Amino acid sequence: MKPVGPIPAGYESIGGELAIGGKRASELVAEAGRTPLFVYSRAHLDVRVAQLRAALPARVGINYAVKANPHLAVIGHLAGLVDGFDIASSGELGFCVAVGIDPARISFAGPGKRDDELEAAIATGVTLNCESEGEGRRAIAIGQRLGRAPRIAIRVNPSFELKGSGMKMGGGAKPFGVDADKVPDLARFLIGEGAEWRGLHIFTGSQALSTEAIIEAQANVLELAANLTDAIGHGCPKLNMGGGFGIPYFPGDEPLDLSRVGAALAERVGHLPASLASSELCLELGRYLVGEAGVYLCRVIDRKESHGVVYLVTDGGLHHQLAASGNFGTVVRRNYPSAIATRYEAEPIEEVNIVGCLCTPLDRLADNAFMPRAEIGDLVAVFCAGAYGASASPAAFLGHGPAAELLV
Ligand SMILES: *Cc1c(COP(=O)(O)O)cnc(C)c1O
Repeated sequence: MKPVGPIPAGYESIGGELAIGGKRASELVAEAGRTPLFVYSRAHLDVRVAQLRAALPARVGINYAVKANPHLAVIGHLAGLVDGFDIASSGELGFCVAVGIDPARISFAGPGKRDDELEAAIATGVTLNCESEGEGRRAIAIGQRLGRAPRIAIRVNPSFELKGSGMKMGGGAKPFGVDADKVPDLARFLIGEGAEWRGLHIFTGSQALSTEAIIEAQANVLELAANLTDAIGHGCPKLNMGGGFGIPYFPGDEPLDLSRVGAALAERVGHLPASLASSELCLELGRYLVGEAGVYLCRVIDRKESHGVVYLVTDGGLHHQLAASGNFGTVVRRNYPSAIATRYEAEPIEEVNIVGCLCTPLDRLADNAFMPRAEIGDLVAVFCAGAYGASASPAAFLGHGPAAELLV
């Protein structure tokens, strides 16, 4: 038997079924008209932002990294909760504009921005988090052609990284950001060419569950930002401190101690070096905001036995939930939190393999999981599906098409 990950707080059951936002899983499927279905919970988003606001110093704003979940209803709901939005393409800019977000609240990071993407950002007043000298030169040229000063911050490739990070995005040679020692010259060049200087962006990693590591990375970020700002000599209007806050996916994972992170940050922010004394500060969070707010529901299509092993074959799979299948940046496959949604309160009595409908052995949702007995027609729930699910999975693979999505 292999355990499944911890089910996030805040899910209840009604009539023996998993309920989200006060509605039973089967009702939600009826509302959406089909499975597979991603359900995102407004209440979870509200609670998560409220927890962050309570823990973080008031001076530190919260940005949402849209790539974690670009569903328009989710972005629209977060528009009323968070301070800023971080995008990584002009497509994501389009999503933000579609739900009425003011481009002045948006910053645009990401290597390989095309000229048309730079132009869209400059024309609408989005802040560019500049990833290279070449990109900076292109932005200046485009700004001159448009007659608009580009709003530019520099994304720094720091020499340190967020320890225990699920995905390393800082430290050593990287395609992301400008090496820290090259930042002052580039900043002065861009300012000299007429850019509106917006400050620094220092992203050190992702999916960290170590409270100590987050605290240490934040201290390093503030120190580096202060040193760079001194060297640049033009102040730092805004410092995007990155994020990297992880969520528990697997057995044994412990959540971050948000109050300790907040207290340590409050202490630092209370004693900022002079160069950052008037800087606007923010964190940028993706999965921490939305990951636990999403549940993926799929239906058991077949129940079969092979060499004594029970398989629950569902109409879902890795084409919607690549990460849960273990094929999105994981080394050892472990089980996401999952359950039989329509028998949420029933006693587990058997070991099953829950698989998807794709014709590949990679398509697994839960291995050797101990579950209540499920029959054809039952619904399976995979939790922690709010981030890097629908938009980070190969929906075209095998032609089943995308899942439905519903914000409740
Ligand atoms: C992906 C990304 C994020 C979001 O990461 P999470 O792990 O979802 O919080 C934030 N900032 C940048 C620059 C990113 O590339």
